[in-house]
Amino acid sequence: MLKVGLTGGIGSGKTVVAGVFGVLGVPVFQADAEARAIMQSDEAVKAALEARFGASIYSGGILDRKAMAAIIFRDAEALRLVNGIVHPAVRAAFDRWALAQSGPYAIMEAALMAENGGWRRFDQVVVVACSEAERIRRVMARDGVTEEEVRARMSNQASEAERLAIAHHVVRNEGAELVIPQVLAIHEKLKAAP
Ligand code: ATP
Repeated sequence: MLKVGLTGGIGSGKTVVAGVFGVLGVPVFQADAEARAIMQSDEAVKAALEARFGASIYSGGILDRKAMAAIIFRDAEALRLVNGIVHPAVRAAFDRWALAQSGPYAIMEAALMAENGGWRRFDQVVVVACSEAERIRRVMARDGVTEEEVRARMSNQASEAERLAIAHHVVRNEGAELVIPQVLAIHEKLKAAP
């Protein structure tokens, strides 16, 4: 089975596009949701996070996500460390999950792929493209945050050009562009891929 990565900048519409693939019957693994679940349930990951950030990072067995976010936001080294602990566990979970799927291809949706070389693990990569201005508008509306907060999150992500450079397929999700016909065309290509 072909392994396909689906990525895009914050607010590009990855989750919307993944939903269309899902409607077509394509198995979709959501890496960011899996990462959150793993930080909550994987004992080895929990132990590694506690060893680095102190036992208080879990309160009553529940990850203190606010405290963690505050740490990794101001400390790039801590962010790298968390990713180094969590990403291998997510990759292993994806590989196990993929073995249990059927069909010509399966998708992993992940915000970070261009940034960390993660895209190399996929046979093909789909990038959801959208201008920065529109992505900022969407995230401000969706999350009720300021432009500065969106820009701060964007600063940990690759540029649109860097993402497009790893794309085998691009879905333009902006303005009058229709997503469903684009996804259908990519679906046909992926089904036919060797
Ligand atoms: P994140 O990386 O933050 O999880 P994402 O790439 O998964 O974002 P979505 O959550 O799918 O993006 O979309 C961001 C917001 O923009 C959502 O509120 C979604 O409903 C909206 N949105 C997505 N595509 C469009 C579109 N074509 N027109 C208008 N709104 C859209």
